[in-house]
Amino acid sequence: PRLVDSVADGEDTAVEAALRPKDLDEFVGQEKVREQLDLVLKAARARGATADHVLLSGAPGLGKTTLSMIIAAEMEAPIRITSGPAIQHAGDLAAILSSLQEGEVLFLDEIHRMSRPAEEMLYMAMEDFRVDVIVGKGPGATAIPLELPPFTLVGATTRAGLLPPPLRDRFGFTGHMEFYAPAELERVIHRSARLLDLEIEEAGAAEIAGRSRGTPRIANRLLRRVRDYAQVKADGTIDREIAAAALAVYEVDARGLDRLDRAVLEALLKLFGGGPVGLSTLSVAVGEERETVEEVAEPFLVREGLLARTPRGRVATPAAWAHLGLTPPQQGSG
Ligand code: ADP
Repeated sequence: PRLVDSVADGEDTAVEAALRPKDLDEFVGQEKVREQLDLVLKAARARGATADHVLLSGAPGLGKTTLSMIIAAEMEAPIRITSGPAIQHAGDLAAILSSLQEGEVLFLDEIHRMSRPAEEMLYMAMEDFRVDVIVGKGPGATAIPLELPPFTLVGATTRAGLLPPPLRDRFGFTGHMEFYAPAELERVIHRSARLLDLEIEEAGAAEIAGRSRGTPRIANRLLRRVRDYAQVKADGTIDREIAAAALAVYEVDARGLDRLDRAVLEALLKLFGGGPVGLSTLSVAVGEERETVEEVAEPFLVREGLLARTPRGRVATPAAWAHLGLTPPQQGSG
């Protein structure tokens, strides 16, 4: 797996539980979402009611699971964690819903990937706290209504636009999670370093933050790799030089590009003069599958303003030439 992947790997899962902020005050950044959520939760508590359903949209690793746990903690409620792909049949969802306790938080990650019948069951459950359990098959099948205790659904999705409007409309509150600014990632890194008992200098944290792609999960992962390096090659303290040297070993550059990202950019610049070039041609040149280039490398390059997808093909931006230290060919010279 890539060091700069925003999706959790096995090691992340093991370590992340210890690094998760426990309340809204500890949660770094996302000022808008925090402020809005704070109001939603305080109001619900003042009314002695279950909090409204919450939809969180944003890329992996930005803190959606963490926020759902904070919601449960602030509401002093238990939490159940599942995901859209884990719910194949409406019956799977019925089983989960009917076992919820009153006020429980149900975190449904990747809610846009739920099956259609499950989705329709969820509409009714969210609105009326009721599901119809279908018993039997064919013409003799009957729907048995089942009352549910009030609960709070926290749905997570990469983009709110992926959800069918009827589902989106049933959330009382939608929070959009943004990528984190470098200064916020520095705070995440300092906080994690404290929890992991690591010595880190300001400049060391800044160096890691700049390479973390705006994503706390990646920041925490890079911090662990830098820690390894600092322990093996130095006295354990993480300063700027140690952080930069460690991440050079792992081929994560100053802007957070890894080997694959740079291979794509280099091919585009050196073999195709910066484009435009078709995705297939570019992929062959890099020696990777089309899907890998398109889905793994390109999104971040596009986000960083290094590559543009145009109708005529992939094109490098001036920033791409600058980042790789190359000079673009003269335009219009014939
Ligand atoms: P998501 O569910 O969006 O994929 P997670 O909630 O699992 O992301 O967060 C991934 C990791 O990043 C966790 O270890 C968490 O502690 C850390 N993290 C995410 N957001 C923040 C934040 N705002 N402040 C501090 N740590 C964070």
